[in-house]
Amino acid sequence: MKGVAILGATGSIGRSALSVLDQHPDRFRLIAITAHRNEEALEDLVREHRPSLAVLSDVGSSKGEAGAGRVDGAEGLIEAATHPEVDIVVNALVGAAGLEPTVAALRAGKRVALANKESLVCGGSLVLEAARRGGGELIPVDSEHSAILQCLEGSSRRSVERLVLTASGGPFRTLDPEQLASVTPGDALRHPTWEMGAKVTVDSATLANKALEVIEAHFLFGIGYDRIDAVVHPQSIVHSMVEFVDGSVLAQMGFPTMEIPVLYALTYPDRLPFRSRRFDPVEAGSLTFERIREGVFPAFSLGVRAGRAGGAHPAVFNAANEVAVDAFLQGRIGFLDVGSAIGNALDRWRGADVVDVESVLEVDRWARATTTTFIERHAHC
Ligand code: NDP
Repeated sequence: MKGVAILGATGSIGRSALSVLDQHPDRFRLIAITAHRNEEALEDLVREHRPSLAVLSDVGSSKGEAGAGRVDGAEGLIEAATHPEVDIVVNALVGAAGLEPTVAALRAGKRVALANKESLVCGGSLVLEAARRGGGELIPVDSEHSAILQCLEGSSRRSVERLVLTASGGPFRTLDPEQLASVTPGDALRHPTWEMGAKVTVDSATLANKALEVIEAHFLFGIGYDRIDAVVHPQSIVHSMVEFVDGSVLAQMGFPTMEIPVLYALTYPDRLPFRSRRFDPVEAGSLTFERIREGVFPAFSLGVRAGRAGGAHPAVFNAANEVAVDAFLQGRIGFLDVGSAIGNALDRWRGADVVDVESVLEVDRWARATTTTFIERHAHC
């Protein structure tokens, strides 16, 4: 019986994790859940799942006196992530807010089932160092990285030639820049193959998400950027591939669902039965692959370049992207301004390297302020 904490339980991945746990009550016990602002949804989950600890991380969103087993404020995230009865922390938070709980859980020797890719992007080497020191374990939830982990099973790292991440291409895959200039947040939120939270859905439309995933793969699997590629695969059936030195390629496939990668992150390297729609290759139909149009989706190449530059650059990329996506969702800037805002922050960054979590958070604050200024100059309203 493993104790589980779900950080971001009210979100899309958080709810997938809850439904996975529901299928295996004999294997997993829910110890802690967190939400940020959605107190009502948090309290509904508390009534339904009866965790020992419930956290509302945005203290200002609490409407009343928190009852027993409730903690309000960001420190509650650390409490949930390091709870003595927790073996596995599902980090399903969105954004750089996930970094401190990831590091705290790994330092406390927990397995982190990581959906919050932003943690690794902002603080890659610090996260790996926390795992080394604390004895914690980092297992990806992202379907692409889960696919790679599954393809790598039983192979030595020396036999790996290249990782190939797949990208759906998002809702604007075939549009040209003139058409992209007038797309709305509503258009961006209509993802063709995945149902996800708003931020990652927009990231998927700009392809910033694929850059975040290239950086995530670099840290997770210890593979150089020259050996990580990404291709567009509109059907989202092949979740990613690994090419080996002998030219053989393994791919992991399935209909799009996040529940299977969440379950695998909980049970790795074992597998448990799971009731879900079974794969049918005939129903999946044709599988096609295309190059990413880097000139049309600049957020992708900006992100990969930030990854290659290393140091604090990925943290700058991530924070600028978070602020720009938020402004786009509020209708303050256009879709094409997201790439420009990220480029502006990266061009201006002249700071030092990151040495600890506090220095990452400082870079994050700088990039947010710089991007906010950029957006104020470019905002429609
Ligand atoms: P959602 O927006 O659906 O959920 C985010 C969760 O985090 C909610 O519980 C939210 O609480 C909480 N939260 C939001 N902001 C903060 C904050 N500043 N501090 C603490 N908690 C916060 O996101 P998703 O589930 O879609 O995504 C979560 C992570 O998983 C992201 O990193 C995403 O990139 C990654 N991911 C998601 C996939 C998906 O299918 N959704 C697929 C692969 C990766 P509240 O409800 O109170 O706002």
